[in-house]
Amino acid sequence: MNQILDVLIVGGGPAGVAAAYLCHKKGLNYLIIESGKGIFQGIANTYPEGKNVYPSKPKENPEPFLVEELRPPDKPVAVEKYIQYVQHFVQHENLAVQTETQFDDIKEEREHLSVQTSSGPIKARKVVLAFGSSIPKELSVYGDAKMVAKTLDDPKKYVGVRTLVIGGGNTAADVIISIMKEKRQAGDINPVYWAHIAETFDVNKETAQRLGEEILLGGNIRLLPGATPRIGEVDEEGVDRLVIRTSELKQPDGIEIYNAMSFPMKNVIACIGSQGPLPIFDKIGVQTIACAEGVCHVAKEGDRLILLTADFESTRKGVYVIGGAISPSYMRISGGTIQEEKHPNLIYTAINDAGHVVEAILKKIGK
Ligand SMILES: Cc1cc2nc3c(=O)[nH]c(=O)nc-3n(C[C@H](O)[C@H](O)[C@H](O)COP(=O)(O)OP(=O)(O)OC[C@H]3O[C@@H](n4cnc5c(N)ncnc54)[C@H](O)[C@@H]3O)c2cc1C
Repeated sequence: MNQILDVLIVGGGPAGVAAAYLCHKKGLNYLIIESGKGIFQGIANTYPEGKNVYPSKPKENPEPFLVEELRPPDKPVAVEKYIQYVQHFVQHENLAVQTETQFDDIKEEREHLSVQTSSGPIKARKVVLAFGSSIPKELSVYGDAKMVAKTLDDPKKYVGVRTLVIGGGNTAADVIISIMKEKRQAGDINPVYWAHIAETFDVNKETAQRLGEEILLGGNIRLLPGATPRIGEVDEEGVDRLVIRTSELKQPDGIEIYNAMSFPMKNVIACIGSQGPLPIFDKIGVQTIACAEGVCHVAKEGDRLILLTADFESTRKGVYVIGGAISPSYMRISGGTIQEEKHPNLIYTAINDAGHVVEAILKKIGK
């Protein structure tokens, strides 16, 4: 993309979609990049199936929803319905969204910012980071393991292949149940391997019951406790692979003997949890402040909070951060003072942040 956008929006959740809609209405040249397959991927990944979505507002906040079109209905609907509604809205308004594009870094150029993404650099005058609070953890292995999936988008993709699922909790178990079910229905006897770095798996009773049921119905699962992913490598056919050590014996002479398995990365799903956005803030060099004793009321002592102006601009000029990414609180610079500002993680907050930030950008850009 060679043109310079007015605004690049990172993340297609409520904050990002609201920002895009307002940019669209105000005639700004914008684009949303979303790492998932579609908008609201973050919500689709984190809400349990059938969960109701509430139009909750913080008690102390009298401001109405600034984008009424994205407000969850008063009579709560299931998350699937809300997502479907928003997808239609985005299509109907013809909002510019580029999916399966992951934000990576921001470089400063003379006249604009150059945003590094998995689909190449994108130029923009302003960047709005709206990537939410839950950033999937990366596998810490040598080499590059970026091709490893972090969620299950389509269990059918794994029919006919030996699949490796990494992680020891309920999310990994749920992914395995879905794949086993799909394989069983398709008559595929290839196993699903379940690897975890610890010796025991940790799932709740309800998930364990569903897993047990799937196994009894013929699901083929192989457990790999105490297994560690080690390297990403490319084989002689050019296929990216992940190696996982399934046992190792350290000898007194310093030699290690181990067994390992190697899987094409496209057959691996790593359900190893998520983390807050702090590592991204550090990477792009925006300033954070650690809460000293007695300074913060929402955050704990020692927690690092991002420093933002009243317009949500970070210490990197032209880079704004909104929505769940700055919840449950951030440090606000206002009138020469810096104070912790409470910021509840709600659809309402995300949408209204977008309203304020687009107003601020309009003033700066002078459109
Ligand atoms: C189980 C659950 C139930 C909830 N119920 C309610 C409710 O009923 N009512 C309510 O008001 N709030 C609810 N919330 C909170 C609400 O969902 C969040 O406040 C809201 O989704 C935040 O919006 P956001 O746009 O900031 O972030 P998100 O919705 O997280 O969207 C961020 C988007 O950015 C994408 N992304 C992440 N990293 C990158 C990257 N590097 N590059 C590109 N894209 C990226 C993600 O895929 C995601 O689609 C609930 C939250 C949870 C977990």
